Amino acid sequence: MREIKYIVCHCTATPQTTTVKSIQNHWKNNLGWKSPGYHRLIDASGKIHVLSNYALPTNGAAGFNTVSIHVSYIGGVDGKKAVDNRTPEQKSTMLQLITELKAQFPNAKILGHRDLGAKKACPSFDAIAEYKNL
Ligand SMILES: [Zn+2]
Repeated sequence: MREIKYIVCHCTATPQTTTVKSIQNHWKNNLGWKSPGYHRLIDASGKIHVLSNYALPTNGAAGFNTVSIHVSYIGGVDGKKAVDNRTPEQKSTMLQLITELKAQFPNAKILGHRDLGAKKACPSFDAIAEYKNL
């Protein structure tokens, strides 16, 4: 297993109704990525979609991918405005998933994409504060 320094939270910055398939098509066809953007993606119903094995890097945050696991929820914007619109199901699933990841990778720091210096609001909530007790 590769060394994991960061468990990074993201949002897709798309409407909450966006399908997993269309997000995957965007990465592949528009961005030309060979790997997905995240390891796990949580839809509005709280269901986890497994997009990649943790042993492989994904394209969540340029410069940090080899040492990161990326977890995202579908949503995070209202039009172009960043907003924390996670459903209760997404919040609950994300907490459970992040808790499991922290148990599996105890030395990893939990943070949001924006905390890595990205010029974006992703994931539209304060992941460091929200998961500080894990
Ligand atoms: Zn992000």
